[in-house]
Amino acid sequence: MKTVYFDRNYSYNAITISDEAYERLLVLAMQYRVCQKCSQLYIDDNPQVARNLCLHCFLAKENKRLTLVGTLPTDETDAVTYQFLDQKGYIYLSRSNSDTYAHSPVEHSIFDTLQYWHFPVPETYEVNKETKETVELASHNWYVYGDVQNKPVVVIEYRERYGIERYGNYLQRQFLAYKNGKIVELNRHKKAIREMYTEAKRRAEATKKGGYYHFDGHPYYQLFDADLYRIIADIASEEQTRDHV
Ligand SMILES: [Zn+2]
Repeated sequence: MKTVYFDRNYSYNAITISDEAYERLLVLAMQYRVCQKCSQLYIDDNPQVARNLCLHCFLAKENKRLTLVGTLPTDETDAVTYQFLDQKGYIYLSRSNSDTYAHSPVEHSIFDTLQYWHFPVPETYEVNKETKETVELASHNWYVYGDVQNKPVVVIEYRERYGIERYGNYLQRQFLAYKNGKIVELNRHKKAIREMYTEAKRRAEATKKGGYYHFDGHPYYQLFDADLYRIIADIASEEQTRDHV
């Protein structure tokens, strides 16, 4: 048997029913589900993309000018993951069985963004060349620098503490990811990479006016690694475009 509440505002009014009755009521409830914002039944053109929320109301709520671009396969039979694209080319995910909250809107997923634009992402990394110790790289620890939407190369960065007994080890590595192609670690011991860094610094210095660097029309007192990675992504993209003309 099961105990059900027909309205959570009246939870003292619980009714205990048989398993059979529960199954029948569940089918009925699923059939008559509506969006909690607009009270409309879900239809093919306006599916449930988050818990009790239709596509139309989800987009109105997220207000990021997201576009639905597809669905992803999931392990769960009754849940669908929806993929949305923003204007900068980042992918956001929502799940038909997950809540979205007004104060914590859906976050973009760097890993899914890279997948969507066909940039390769390493799955493992050799942390020790001598012992050949390799760690698995978790998909949620990636960051990206550069223009995923329009450029053939971006810099991707992995950041994570790893290993229980080695707590305190911090894995932070950067890679060049070539669209539909290779992955190259940004290793300053390699001549080609060192030259990219030198060129990136030269370009950053060239933006300096009155003691401030200037990126995208904004002044910055300090030059951060993130700025260099963005410029390196541009340089690698230029090289890639030049080599393939
Ligand atoms: Zn709605």
